[in-house]
Amino acid sequence: MIIGENIHKSFGDLEVLKGVDLHVKPQEVVVLVGVSGSGKSTLLRCFNFLEMINDGKITIDGHMVNTKKDNLTNIRAEVGMVFQHFNLFPHKTVLENVIEAPITVKKMKKEKARALGMELLKKVGLEDKANVYPSKLSGGQKQRVAIARSLAMEPKVMLFDEPTSALDPELVGEVLQVMKQLAEEGMTMVVVTHEMKFAKEVADRIIMIDKGTIIESADPKNFFENPQNERTKQFIQLVE
Ligand code: ADP
Ligand code: MG
Repeated sequence: MIIGENIHKSFGDLEVLKGVDLHVKPQEVVVLVGVSGSGKSTLLRCFNFLEMINDGKITIDGHMVNTKKDNLTNIRAEVGMVFQHFNLFPHKTVLENVIEAPITVKKMKKEKARALGMELLKKVGLEDKANVYPSKLSGGQKQRVAIARSLAMEPKVMLFDEPTSALDPELVGEVLQVMKQLAEEGMTMVVVTHEMKFAKEVADRIIMIDKGTIIESADPKNFFENPQNERTKQFIQLVE
């Protein structure tokens, strides 16, 4: 569904991604871990073309993206992204937030968008909040709206960048639950998270990135019980 080959990304003299290869199969859930500054967010941002890679190739659902020729707005619509901070529009209601992009980007008819929006709000357990403003919501509810908003573009793959890191501990579970449900429904997902219980339960594969290179890739059992790389072993000791 998403193939990154030999991805290189630098900011000035700082080489952040040093030839990353990552193949994510349809319906696969990949959890990406690594210490702060290792390049996790940059990798996700490259997959969504918020950052342009310096070298390598990115293929999404069989189409190798050419950033010079392709319409990046259309490509971004296929790759949903959820951030640590939800960035909802404060002056729009919950439902308006969810249907904004389908209407403006995909030119979806308002009625159809509203029906889709309500269906997605139901999916994340917030249909009763459709007409309130984001300021009235808890952090966990805001993040669930952000997930619904992302799903409204009907993406082929969803990227999550530490979606629960900004939340109070008691609100983390409701967001992880929505993500788990999405995974069970077959969504292809790449998730950066420190929630190791989620990784163990939901991930098909855990990938460790260190200084811009993938150093470990294994199913959760092997990742935790039989890590190959010394840095992975250290990481596991820190998080367990
Ligand atoms: P992680 O998400 O794993 O914590 P990031 O991908 O955010 O790591 O960052 C990796 C490195 O790239 C860090 O050293 C960070 O300071 C640097 N970096 C990220 N984005 C930019 C940018 N837009 N300009 C310059 N440096 C950046
Ligand atoms: Mg990050």
